[in-house]
Amino acid sequence: MPEKIVRVALAGNPNSGKTTLFNAITGAHHKVGNYPGVTVEKREGSRFRGGREYRFIDLPGIYSLTAYSIDEVVARDFILDEKPGVIVDVLDSTNLERNLFLCLQFQELGIPVIGALNMSDEAEARGFRIDHGNLSRTLGVPLVKTVGPKGTGVDELLDAIDTAAAESPGSVSGHLIRYGDEIETRLEPLEKLIVSDRSFGEKYPARWLAVKLLEKDGNAYRRLCGHSDAAQIEASAREAVRWIDQHFGKDSEIIVAEQRYGYIRGAVQESVVIVKHPDFSLTETVDRVIMNRFLALPVFMFVLWAVFQLTFFLGEYPMEWLERFFDLLSGVLRSIIPEGLIRSLIVDGIIGGVGGVLSFVPLIVILFFFLSILEDVGYMSRAAFATDKLLHSFGLHGQSIFPMMLGFGCSVPAILASRTLKSPRDRIITVLITPLMSCGAKLPVHVLLAAAFFPEHAGSMVILIYAIGAGLSLLCALLFKATVLSGDPTPFVMELPPYRAPTLRGVFWHVWEKTWMYAKKAGTVILASSILIWAITSFPSYTPKEGENGTETAQNALEHSAAGRIGHVIEPVFRPLGFDWKIAVASVTGFAAKEVIVSTFGILYHVGTEETEESEGLRDAIRRDDRMRPLVAFVFMLFTLIIPPCFAALATMKAEIGGKWVAFEIGFLFVLGWLLCFLVFQTGRLAGF
Ligand code: GDP
Ligand code: MG
Repeated sequence: MPEKIVRVALAGNPNSGKTTLFNAITGAHHKVGNYPGVTVEKREGSRFRGGREYRFIDLPGIYSLTAYSIDEVVARDFILDEKPGVIVDVLDSTNLERNLFLCLQFQELGIPVIGALNMSDEAEARGFRIDHGNLSRTLGVPLVKTVGPKGTGVDELLDAIDTAAAESPGSVSGHLIRYGDEIETRLEPLEKLIVSDRSFGEKYPARWLAVKLLEKDGNAYRRLCGHSDAAQIEASAREAVRWIDQHFGKDSEIIVAEQRYGYIRGAVQESVVIVKHPDFSLTETVDRVIMNRFLALPVFMFVLWAVFQLTFFLGEYPMEWLERFFDLLSGVLRSIIPEGLIRSLIVDGIIGGVGGVLSFVPLIVILFFFLSILEDVGYMSRAAFATDKLLHSFGLHGQSIFPMMLGFGCSVPAILASRTLKSPRDRIITVLITPLMSCGAKLPVHVLLAAAFFPEHAGSMVILIYAIGAGLSLLCALLFKATVLSGDPTPFVMELPPYRAPTLRGVFWHVWEKTWMYAKKAGTVILASSILIWAITSFPSYTPKEGENGTETAQNALEHSAAGRIGHVIEPVFRPLGFDWKIAVASVTGFAAKEVIVSTFGILYHVGTEETEESEGLRDAIRRDDRMRPLVAFVFMLFTLIIPPCFAALATMKAEIGGKWVAFEIGFLFVLGWLLCFLVFQTGRLAGF
């Protein structure tokens, strides 16, 4: 029986290895990425040791306890409001001076702090020799050297947590930084005023709050309102700020930051020796070439293009095997199950629908594999730099590229990733345009139609659709910026992580997670929709007329069915786009999930050809439909690209930016999709395609 649960917050700068350590300690498999801002929600996991439960909380990265973006707010509020028993500050040892800035603020909170000197392998390799005993004594913080991916130092870290947790909260002192006489004389009365309200003083550490007030942290001022003397404290704080601003001729928050950096520099100088100056690290050498002013953008374009080419090239073979497997399976089942409704349900409904979607699993796996390698290697941040200028001219922010690229995989994590954007305006625009980045679920539709109608250029057609999506997303950003979301994008500040070899484990879990999600969808939403679509295409049942041949019977039966009738009712809306009723039905079913479009085709076309042909691939079946022409196929690909995303994405969007914007998005994408498809179809028709 655990006597007491000790809550341990893992906090620190973005990309310092918090999630890696969290996984090493708790055995979890959360997403790790060589890009700041991968963790946007806090996550919990437990470790039992000596009969005690340690509950670790993995927090989003922060640079300071003054928060700007939503992920920073999540981390700050957790530490302030839920008061963990111990804070483990995960420090990037290759960049100690900047990382310790946050550590000093943690110390002021009066919660026991332990520093994990993470990335100590990389620091060694770069020639830093850190005397952690000495540094620990100078700062008054226990320090443990760790290497996250190998789990090195985890035991020592747990020992240190044990010791820290045993300390009584009041006795935590460390050596708090002094900000110099001028500032200290202003801090002191503020601290006194804060503790004058006992219950308030217990809630917030007085010194920490006093410093934050001098730093003009808006959130700290808001937190004052629980104090019985709030007005007086605020007045004295503002007076002190005014005095410091005037006395130093600089903003008070800059003065405070300078004091902290000065203190840290002194401490680091005494404890860190650089034994060799690697004149050029690999990262710098590579960046000189591929991040150069002229090459950065072309290199980025090339990387994207290569990822897609490789995905299609490698994906083609396993996809064909799977297709053949499902064909074979249908054939076998057809021969062993007697003709009738059951056979039709299993072969046409379930295998036709779910099998059609599962054939695309290899493609999805490969795409996610490449995207996660790019992220782990450290290229995503480079992509943000490379595209920042371009994105700026469309009113976006360099950091928007990360959500946008994730959008090629799935809109749900992409929408969440926009949390790292600091300004709400940049964030809303980014969320609104990510669905235009064609996601993994739309890929099967594109591939199916491209392979059926443009067999010579299937890969290029699909890439063209992706490019159109990306182009449209930029144009929409421009449109939003000019109309509903005007204002300037915030300036771009981000650092480039070093290049790192991707860890096999990380890539494996990432790909597995996404593939599993896709497969689960095939087994639930898509299975259910397939059965439903099968039912509406099979009922009401049709009695063949005299003198009809097999194909005519099948066609008539389909038109007679509920799906046929629904299709005919909605057809007028889609006719100007060149869609017949079958395509109309598929567009409507696509709202549950985009993969359902493929399963709808699978069912519609198999029903249409049942008993008349040997079972054949869906591609051939679609191609044989005389109303489907290359132009129509292309317009339908466009339509699938633009229409509103699936329910899951819309629900995520609602949680992130609110229902009002979701309603706007649905209307906007519908109108945009319809108009654009109308234009393309009519122009194409006049041009004689
Ligand atoms: P977080 O943003 O703090 O959660 O950082 P992550 O855990 O996502 O890690 C960021 C990157 O650093 C990933 O590529 C990790 O594989 C890598 N990483 C984490 N810890 C270490 C370490 O101790 N040594 C080295 N060489 N790399 C590490
Ligand atoms: Mg993380």
